Amino acid sequence: MIDFTTFEKNLATVQRRIILSCQMCGRSVESVKLLPVTKNHPLDAVDFSVRCGLDSVGENRVQEAADKRSSYPAPVFWELIGHLQSNKAQHAVATFDRIQSVDSLKLLRRLDRFSRELGKQLPILLQFNTGEDPNKYGFAACDADQALEVALSADNLQVDGLMTIAPFDEDPEVARAAFEKLRDLRDRLTERFGLPLIELSMGMTQDLEAAIAAGSTQIRVGTALFGARTY
Ligand SMILES: *Cc1c(COP(=O)(O)O)cnc(C)c1O
Repeated sequence: MIDFTTFEKNLATVQRRIILSCQMCGRSVESVKLLPVTKNHPLDAVDFSVRCGLDSVGENRVQEAADKRSSYPAPVFWELIGHLQSNKAQHAVATFDRIQSVDSLKLLRRLDRFSRELGKQLPILLQFNTGEDPNKYGFAACDADQALEVALSADNLQVDGLMTIAPFDEDPEVARAAFEKLRDLRDRLTERFGLPLIELSMGMTQDLEAAIAAGSTQIRVGTALFGARTY
């Protein structure tokens, strides 16, 4: 794990990338939030982020996040960004402040049920596989209307927006197309359902510029902040 000084430098570099990208497409820097992805890194990664004024972190495993959360007393907004098996839905509802990786109707129904049991209103994002990558989770764009209908009828879920992970590809056009597809999907759903879907969670270390250009409101960055992950 890197030390705090290295983290500060990495953070400054990422912030410069965000500022430049926003300037290129005429967006305000405040319209893009940075989510540090602390998965597979020790608790220090969470602590470094908080010390630099970042108020939320992204994790991809329920147990890892639960352990970190219980040993970190300061207030942090814990976001689940990795695939969630439905048998872990109950633990996830108890652990996370928001779940971005909601990718099936079954999971939607389970999250609603466990949120009700816990007396909780759970913010979620619907994850879409807009890059049509066979190795990635997420609803297909053609199932979006049904997914949103089910999500909106779930009394204990609050739909904040949409999320995607672009396919890994040398060609930056591939990621760009996936991001634009998510944005267009959001625009269409907003129109059809007459409600705001404010959050567009897209962009990572490799492709954050393309995501910001396509309208991302939250980039999820691990490697550029904390270095390579040791699995
Ligand atoms: C790991 C992960 C990230 C961060 O990826 P980096 O390439 O390390 O920035 C972002 N989003 C999701 C869903 C992830 O699983």
